[in-house]
Amino acid sequence: MVALDVTDENKAIEISREVFQYVDAIKVGYPLVLSSHLSIVDRIKEITKKEIICDFKLADIPSTNEKIASLTLRYGDGIICHGFLGEDSIRAVQEVAKKYGEKGNYKKVIMVTEMSHRGAIQFIQPVADELAEMAKRLKVDGVVAPSTRPERLKTIKDIVGDIPVLSPGIGAQGGDLNKVLNILDEDDYIIVGRDIYESENPGRRAQYYYHILKDR
Ligand code: C5P
Repeated sequence: MVALDVTDENKAIEISREVFQYVDAIKVGYPLVLSSHLSIVDRIKEITKKEIICDFKLADIPSTNEKIASLTLRYGDGIICHGFLGEDSIRAVQEVAKKYGEKGNYKKVIMVTEMSHRGAIQFIQPVADELAEMAKRLKVDGVVAPSTRPERLKTIKDIVGDIPVLSPGIGAQGGDLNKVLNILDEDDYIIVGRDIYESENPGRRAQYYYHILKDR
């Protein structure tokens, strides 16, 4: 999954065209959407025909989460939420996704367990196992866990069982791809941002990852 954290709409479209054949999904977040519009998701989807996940890391009370999720899922195929707000905040997003699902339009609710940066050790890591247990209980469609700390990735993966894991931290954040691939299964994703979109040739860089994943 490529993280398209660029702040220029045209650049985002250009990179999407270059990389889409080598990725399973595209993750957009605030950098791109705040510098353009949420409808950029439709444009990218039209070009790439790939799953688009909106990484808005929702972290609010249920009624606000619900509003944000309703607006977001008009466009994205999935939404990333924080779990530390508690079960009701996630359930509110799942209710929105369910309504789309009833109309045949399946949407994913993905929950962050532990972040990949150093600061995650301060507050979120001590409760990450409990967050993973909650994600399992709520049967979310995916969890985010760090490639930068393979031992934590493994623990979280063991807790969530068959829920797919999305793992950022390869490339710019220094995660060890081999170690991570020994932990992840076929249904899991690595998320790579800067190492692809800041590279001189994003298409070739995405192809590099594609071959590693395909040949393993
Ligand atoms: O550029 P880089 O490959 O480090 O991008 C990683 C992406 O994954 C960014 O979009 C970042 O916001 C996101 N992310 C993360 N750690 C998490 C959840 C999301 O790095 N736990």
